[in-house]
Amino acid sequence: MVRVFYPGSFDPAHNGHIDVTSRASELFDEVIVGVYEAPPKNLMFTTGERVELFKDSLTGINNVQIIPFTGLAPDQARRVGAKAILRGLRAGFDFEQEFEMASMWRNLSPDIDVICMMSSLEHQFLYSSRIKEVARLGASIDNLVPSHVAEAIKERL
Ligand code: ADP
Repeated sequence: MVRVFYPGSFDPAHNGHIDVTSRASELFDEVIVGVYEAPPKNLMFTTGERVELFKDSLTGINNVQIIPFTGLAPDQARRVGAKAILRGLRAGFDFEQEFEMASMWRNLSPDIDVICMMSSLEHQFLYSSRIKEVARLGASIDNLVPSHVAEAIKERL
């Protein structure tokens, strides 16, 4: 049984995160999504809200759990019995960041591997921060996030 841990801020979950999670759910026996409680970012949603928004995006997928977490991702991966940490990769910029972070995690916890999954072409340009920014400026985000997430962003703004 192979379980992977997919950590992130998910503020909020968008179609790129959902695509990575649902593709991973077909490759691995279980996917545990970890919503990081204290990312160094200005958050729009509380941890509980980010967990619920992600959960409501994955109806019909039974082998994914969404949990909040604090501390180091490899420690949390070990706590939930995951063999590896999963990350998504968009073209360009993400590679440098993910490579650097994965190297640190591997140094801290050589027993937990890091797997990167390429973003699908149509989601390469999706960033939570950019989605919130364009929504704030009045753009439609209906094709970038599930409808309940678009509603939650509109309400928050
Ligand atoms: P964001 O950069 O959108 O704020 P997070 O920090 O929540 O995202 O990212 C959590 C994980 O999801 C990271 O591994 C990130 O690279 C990945 N990810 C974010 N956006 C996408 C996307 N559009 N396609 C694939 N993976 C993504």
